Amino acid sequence: MQSLDVIPVGQVAGATSSSHVVRIVHISDTHLGHHVLTPPRPISGNISIRRSNSSDVPNQVVDEKGIDAFEKKSGCLAETSDGGFHKGGVFLSNVRRSRASDYEIPCGDILVHSGDFDWSKHSGRIFRSDNFEEIVQLMNDFFDRFPHKVKIFVAGNHEGCLEKRKIQAVQDRLTSAVYLYNSTYIYEGIHFYGSPYTPFRFMTNARGFIRTSRKIAAHWREIPSRTDVLVTHSPPHGILDLGVTWSARNMPGVSQAFHRVIPSHPCETCGIIHPGRSHWGCPHLREEVLIRIKPTLHLFGHVHEGNGVLTRKGITFSNSSYASMKRPHVFDFYTGF
Ligand SMILES: [Zn+2]
Ligand SMILES: [Zn+2]
Repeated sequence: MQSLDVIPVGQVAGATSSSHVVRIVHISDTHLGHHVLTPPRPISGNISIRRSNSSDVPNQVVDEKGIDAFEKKSGCLAETSDGGFHKGGVFLSNVRRSRASDYEIPCGDILVHSGDFDWSKHSGRIFRSDNFEEIVQLMNDFFDRFPHKVKIFVAGNHEGCLEKRKIQAVQDRLTSAVYLYNSTYIYEGIHFYGSPYTPFRFMTNARGFIRTSRKIAAHWREIPSRTDVLVTHSPPHGILDLGVTWSARNMPGVSQAFHRVIPSHPCETCGIIHPGRSHWGCPHLREEVLIRIKPTLHLFGHVHEGNGVLTRKGITFSNSSYASMKRPHVFDFYTGF
């Protein structure tokens, strides 16, 4: 069993037992491996989901006695022995804090998937098959299995089937999640904004929502300054974005021989020598995020080798790519006192 690290963000300083906390669980880049991921398991007994017939009323998660397992319990700073409550008490009342396996997704209020649910590699428009119905059905089946009150999905470059569809057309079919496509969703005062774009790379073979440097900057400028949780598929340049180069992945022998002959220099971005790896993140996104938007949290994926969390200039960055490491990141967002 693995202990669950929860990272506090937001108005943490001065927080008291009555502080309001929203727990956010972040995953990304599941690439059709989602079927192995399991909902959080209770310490004893079972929780179940009472499905709502209305799109305005979320599904209810109940314990064996039929009591709402998401019921808020304020004034509960101490953690109880049964793993029940976390600071502020927004935690499921009977679900354990630890993970039984790599595949167990921890519970929380909001589950965010930041793109590349699919693994479609069709690059050319001519040969791209339209697997929209199939993918949306898989997503609904997936998200419906989890007890989080709200699920948020932002597309990635492997979701080419979503690119030509308007936000409402996707949302009408994606009934189990909030689809953010250059749009904002507000949950208990927290502003989430989602955008699917990634910068053009010549060797990328999945080209949904891929934009050239000049065009992508305009999309980032549209992000509202009032954004608390920014969700993009692309990382910002130089932050949890070190990916294996095409040559190192596909021709490792040639790549290693090349780097033996041509000595590598410290990288201008990070100062480290990293032959066979390069920064895939977007420089324009970095600038907008660090200088103008300054969100509390920035969630992304895309670069599989970059899974991790770091804080820079007061902003917490999270890459939760599942493709190379099964590690979700969990945040308690303190919204006020
Ligand atoms: Zn570097
Ligand atoms: Zn991607």
